[in-house]
Amino acid sequence: MEKNIAVIRGDGIGPEIVNATLDVLDAVAERFGHKFNYEDVDMGGCSIDKYGVPLTEEAIAKCLASDSVLLGAIGGYKWDNLPGDIRPERGLLGLRSAMGLYSNVRPARLFPQLAFASPLKPEIVERGIDLVIVRELIGGVYFGEHKTEVIDGEKKATDVMSYTEHEIERLLHIAFKMAQKRRKKVTMIDKANVLDTSKLWRELGYKIAGQYPDIDYDYMLVDNTAMQLVKNPAQFDVVVTENMFGDILSDEASMITGSIGMIPSSSLGETGVGMYEPIHGSAPDIAGQNIANPIGTILSAAMMLKYSFDMDSESDAVEAAVNQVLDNGIRTVDIYTDGMTKVSCSEMGEKVAAAVLAAK
Ligand code: NAD
Repeated sequence: MEKNIAVIRGDGIGPEIVNATLDVLDAVAERFGHKFNYEDVDMGGCSIDKYGVPLTEEAIAKCLASDSVLLGAIGGYKWDNLPGDIRPERGLLGLRSAMGLYSNVRPARLFPQLAFASPLKPEIVERGIDLVIVRELIGGVYFGEHKTEVIDGEKKATDVMSYTEHEIERLLHIAFKMAQKRRKKVTMIDKANVLDTSKLWRELGYKIAGQYPDIDYDYMLVDNTAMQLVKNPAQFDVVVTENMFGDILSDEASMITGSIGMIPSSSLGETGVGMYEPIHGSAPDIAGQNIANPIGTILSAAMMLKYSFDMDSESDAVEAAVNQVLDNGIRTVDIYTDGMTKVSCSEMGEKVAAAVLAAK
């Protein structure tokens, strides 16, 4: 197969982690007989430096014309004091919106080799953590009306949360389809004992579940979920929820796996072109030193292979290669412990690429 990938290296450690990831994609192409064409796209601080804006129409067009987008990270001290509408982050929000990316998928998986990094008790960690949060990304209270008014001399603030059936159903389909490629369980998170939006989510959850008889479906209140994630995370496979609950729960889920440099994400939407990126930022404190951990980006590329290109074996091969490298004691500095072998960002990319090829 031949695929065109728009590559946004971005700022800070972005170019380092993306370059390491392209080594791994090249190894996948070689092993499985595919051709991946990479097209560079500027976005974020580097685009501000070149064009005066964080995102150009040309950049959007290149992304929309691609089969998928791979993003490193954007932002940094240099652009921190710019006005809000031309900051690097505005480029990312603009691109998500232009691509109609309404779902954000963030797996939280604990690698047994890094179990020491989890803040949870060993007896909880032993049962395993391997879940995915599917979060609605462009609706709900973050996108509703916000206003602050003064009534009888007192300030009153209001934020409106609303969802349409269409917005909920399209996200639920993503969650159920994802569960079909995993352990076949979906848990829908809501606050249906209080909120009308949640009552609609719950009603539609049952409706859509009926279309996926192979999936074990259940729901849970958001406050209980926050507790269950630290008490018994092994019970979750795919967790699906609205924007604000997903924002909070996905950070909690990332935290219990212990390491920010290891976690990938994907955003899928209306156009069929997905965007894949690690969950961390541009880490300006370590940029340019070739010490960043590229595994979150490498695993994002593995998600791209599975969910955008239907290349399940290729995706599994990348995940197996990451596991193999960790088993061999190879570590970037952020996950290093005594007795392991410390490698740079580029060396980590080379090791994972070599492991992909060695399994040929
Ligand atoms: P950050 O995620 O960049 O860094 C937080 C800490 O984690 C830092 O100490 C950093 O060195 C470390 N870290 C992050 N990724 C790492 C990796 N792969 N390997 C090793 N260590 C890693 O968050 P921040 O410092 O709050 O933000 C820095 C910049 O990134 C800001 O400009 C912010 O706006 C931007 N940002 C961008 C994105 C994105 O591109 N999607 C997301 C979040 C933040």
